[in-house]
Amino acid sequence: MKILDMLYEGKAKRIYATEDPNLLVMNYKDEATAFDGAKKGIIASKGIVNNRVSCLLFNLLEKHGVATHLVKQLDERNVLVRRMEMIPLEVVVRNVVAGSLAKRLGREEGQVLPVPVVELYYKSDELHDPMVNESHAQAFGWATKEQLTVMQQKALQVNQVLQPFFDSIGIILVDFKLEFGLADGEILLGDEISPDSCRLWDKETMDKLDKDRFRRDLGQEAEAYQEVVRRIEAALG
Ligand code: UDP
Repeated sequence: MKILDMLYEGKAKRIYATEDPNLLVMNYKDEATAFDGAKKGIIASKGIVNNRVSCLLFNLLEKHGVATHLVKQLDERNVLVRRMEMIPLEVVVRNVVAGSLAKRLGREEGQVLPVPVVELYYKSDELHDPMVNESHAQAFGWATKEQLTVMQQKALQVNQVLQPFFDSIGIILVDFKLEFGLADGEILLGDEISPDSCRLWDKETMDKLDKDRFRRDLGQEAEAYQEVVRRIEAALG
């Protein structure tokens, strides 16, 4: 697949056109940002880990009937995906209290939730991705009621696959963020699922194996990302 013009450069990935108008290439970078880009750094080989982790997890999800944009991994940093019209919402699923939920509702990090919590955020760096509800999404035309229902169902389905999978490799899936898009009228899971977009805690030690190591200056970011990909490869690779 010939890689053509770069269409977009984000904080962690670049998107390229290909000869096929329905296909794009996503290229994963090692750049890490947090707090809407206020904190910047590099996590060695992060792009390679995130591409591999995301491809393996999207493959697993496809096997469980979750449609995704994944076509195939091309090489260490590049993946071929279906072109979609992105829905400008982030769907967050939480199994354990952490991060912004702990802060906003004054709850202890680590409290296990009796049912998963699903949240919507409007994707806008300048507004700092504000939390929104379904009526905002409908009123501003970001998604229809039907699309919101499908996205939230799919998000819970992803959780039902990934939570037991991570558990089987000794990792607690605390929370994660998903993005969806439309291709030929169908809602597909897009973007990535990686230690950048999930909170992953080691079941034994409760060590953080995700981007919180970078956000909170905990050190050993690259080692934590490598540990995640090592365990996932051993189970699925
Ligand atoms: N998340 C993400 N991108 C964002 C915001 C959140 O991937 O722009 C992920 C984050 O890594 C975590 C989950 O979504 O796994 C919930 O994040 P939270 O709302 O707690 O925000 P944070 O504390 O990360 O700012």
